[in-house]
Amino acid sequence: MALRDYDAIIVGAGFYGATLAERIASTGRTVCVLERRSHIGGNCYSETDAGTGIEYHKYGSHLFHTNSEEVWRYLHRFTGFTQYRHRVLTVHKGQVYPMPINLGTICAFFGRYMTPTEARELVRRQADAEARSTPDNLEEKAVASIGRPLYEAFVRGYTKKQWQTDPRQLPASIIARLPVRFTFDPYYFADQYEGLPVDGYTAVFRRMLDSPRIDVRLGVDFFDARDSLCPHQLVVYSGPIDRYFGYRLGELSWRTLDFEREAVGVDDYQGAAVVNYADEEVPHTRIHEFKHLHPERRHPPDRTLICREYSRRARRDDEPYYPVNTARDRQLFSAYRSLAGRENNVLFGGRLGSYQYLDMHQAIASALSDFRKKVVSFWARTLESVAG
Ligand code: FAD
Ligand code: UDP
Repeated sequence: MALRDYDAIIVGAGFYGATLAERIASTGRTVCVLERRSHIGGNCYSETDAGTGIEYHKYGSHLFHTNSEEVWRYLHRFTGFTQYRHRVLTVHKGQVYPMPINLGTICAFFGRYMTPTEARELVRRQADAEARSTPDNLEEKAVASIGRPLYEAFVRGYTKKQWQTDPRQLPASIIARLPVRFTFDPYYFADQYEGLPVDGYTAVFRRMLDSPRIDVRLGVDFFDARDSLCPHQLVVYSGPIDRYFGYRLGELSWRTLDFEREAVGVDDYQGAAVVNYADEEVPHTRIHEFKHLHPERRHPPDRTLICREYSRRARRDDEPYYPVNTARDRQLFSAYRSLAGRENNVLFGGRLGSYQYLDMHQAIASALSDFRKKVVSFWARTLESVAG
């Protein structure tokens, strides 16, 4: 079928694009998904490593968690979930601590047992020492909540490595993602629902896109195919918003990641799925060990697969992973959003299209909401204009 004959063209086969493709096809309309990579799944893509037989997440460990009943139920139409609950450790000056910072981290770091009240008082005193009325960057926000010693040990170096930006130039909202707990709760997320798809993320996408009304074209860049679309056709665009407009107002800044995978001849390399490295001198931010994500599976006893993650500023030809979101970026994005508002047949969304730090459940929730509020009305408007 020619591209112009589909009811909708979806750019990107990540969770945003796949959810919209599935929803649109469920109404009887035809969809073509264009994906420039050689696989579906976007950054959530998983595959089996031929050498070890271990499934790995190509773009870093992806942990599913949500408080949305709607998203949780929606995904259950395509997969069951395991009981996995994520824990993270962090290494600082040769010692290992629980992350996010909890009572165990605080006691180990200060070298003595404290009750929750004692720990809270100690941290409060240290935070008050530099209190400001309204913290307006990541460093101020972190110091106001955990005090300078814990900030210097666990946040400053990691954040500098991860964002290649001084924490005083970063928005406070980034650190708001990381809780501080005065209990021994060792889990990374506190959401009501958590788990991993039983047979991996890629299988979820395969099922979402498995419809006679959905065609997927891999290895196709939208910008090479754009001329063969019909001018009023619905386009759902989940690529970078600045690229859509040919960077005409300037480039938004993104962070990219380099992944260095290695098969190691031991049963267990680090004892956990993710270990962070807090110190600036260690070049990687974290190491993933994928067999720990699925303890319910049988894995080879003599081999494991690890992946070191390095972070750096993205150049135009790198994969953009995280919006850096400086004040300049926010201004530029707002100008691009005004341009986007004038593209009547194009819906911009997902992490790249909305220049937002979205977790998987948020990408799915926004696709479900955009389907109800924007896609359905798009066709209602088209019918009215044909009738009128
Ligand atoms: P993407 O998955 O990025 O999909 C967009 C797709 O569009 C890509 O496949 C891209 O190739 C394609 N595309 C772009 N431009 C074009 C074009 N011109 N033509 C054709 N195709 C194009 N979320 C969690 O909930 N838990 C986690 O633990 C977690 N960990 C993460 C770890 C890392 C390292 C990263 C980077 C993200 C993580 N996320 C996590 C976030 C999660 O990856 C996103 O929420 C999710 O991928 C968003 O889906 P999306 O469809 O918006 O974008
Ligand atoms: N962070 C940190 N130390 C850590 C883990 C996280 O300082 O050991 C900070 C860092 O600034 C990071 C933010 O907390 O960008 C949010 O962490 P999260 O794990 O949510 O980031 P993600 O891995 O999803 O990018």
